Amino acid sequence: MSREAAHSPAGATPARHPRGLYVLFATEMWERFSFYTMLALFTLYLQDKAEGFGWTAAQATTLRANYLGAVFFSPIVGGWLADRFLGYRRAVMIGGVFFIAGHLLLAFPTIGIVYAALVCLVIGNGLFKPNVSTIVGNLYPKGSHLRDRGYNIFYMGINLGATVGPIVVEFVHRYYGFHPSFAVAAVGMAISVLTVIVFRKDIEPGDRRKGHEDVEDASPPTAIDAVPAGRRIVALVVIYLISVVFWMLFFQNGSTLTYFANDNTDWQFSGIISNAIEPFFVIAFSLPLVWLWKKLDEKGLEPSTTTKIAMGMFLMAFAYFVMYFAGKAGGDTGKVSPWWLVSCYALMGLAEITLSPMALSLVSKVAPAKVRGLMMGLWFVATGLGGKLTQIGVYWTEWKHSTFFAVLGGMSLATAFLLVLVLKPLKRAMPGV
Ligand code: GLN
Repeated sequence: MSREAAHSPAGATPARHPRGLYVLFATEMWERFSFYTMLALFTLYLQDKAEGFGWTAAQATTLRANYLGAVFFSPIVGGWLADRFLGYRRAVMIGGVFFIAGHLLLAFPTIGIVYAALVCLVIGNGLFKPNVSTIVGNLYPKGSHLRDRGYNIFYMGINLGATVGPIVVEFVHRYYGFHPSFAVAAVGMAISVLTVIVFRKDIEPGDRRKGHEDVEDASPPTAIDAVPAGRRIVALVVIYLISVVFWMLFFQNGSTLTYFANDNTDWQFSGIISNAIEPFFVIAFSLPLVWLWKKLDEKGLEPSTTTKIAMGMFLMAFAYFVMYFAGKAGGDTGKVSPWWLVSCYALMGLAEITLSPMALSLVSKVAPAKVRGLMMGLWFVATGLGGKLTQIGVYWTEWKHSTFFAVLGGMSLATAFLLVLVLKPLKRAMPGV
């Protein structure tokens, strides 16, 4: 069957994706459903006077920033533990149980329990996120052309979960309040863990320990193999540093953009559901963009991976310049049409799908094999650093909304230009990618 086909001898490319890909699609979809459901609710919950704790926006933004920093730092530890001791599937299972516990604890209205919940979620993500991503790649034989497309499909699973979660809890919250909404996240996570248990046979082929058979690359050497390992690592670290700014702006979804959706948008919804808009656009743009790159490739015009990352940064800047005008349109305190927010999220979704999967494929192509796991972990650490920097949101209530968004847009634009400046040396360090 397809699974055997996927494990045909190295180099032979199977015609179909392994069944395990679809199992991991469902696993990650339900996990991200719960992860982004929690993030959509969290800051509004902390500020809620009736059900939450009546915190200020600045206090809520700060705790969320610290949580994001930790939750994307732990994958480097979780990846290492799985490599060395646990194996990938077991690490995912244990992480899943911590995740369920974390979401259930959030359904209790005590601040001490909230902190305990966050610790569970940090441990959960550390064990779950990097290892589920590693199993995806492991399901494909070395050199398989299907692996990149497999990651694309997997990325759509992530965003399907991130779209559906906030829509569901918009309504659960409306009729039942915050605590049952967090319980909904726990149910989603339970479905994710059950998927791993029921279909464990399909993902077992991806559950080998790295560092043994995967390190030696049997494929013929390419241009990149001639570049010293140190230079390749420096090139990747430059890309990571640039992406920190990207994730800082991305994770305004859930804090300042959610506050804008809640307080400054003229519609019948709360800020919760606005969290679904960006991942929806990621899904909507995925296939057209893959098609466009393919067409350009046929003409020899497909931009390099680093150029695509720069394009992502420019698009992100435009997303925030739209919000600058949205702030202005509402006189910075009034309500504006939801189309401002929708336009911003459309640009942001396009930016994410242009940049984020490209970075994943860079790691797998550029990182020297011996440190590939570590470099994948560091990629998530860059995400976490960006999350921590969302603390800039403490200025949300101090500055005008339009000023706040202009500053963020300016940061993205400056970073994009910086990347353009170093494009040449980066391309020399990463020939052919
Ligand atoms: N949307 C991504 C996710 O949740 C963001 C993290 C990343 O890929 N760096 O998986």
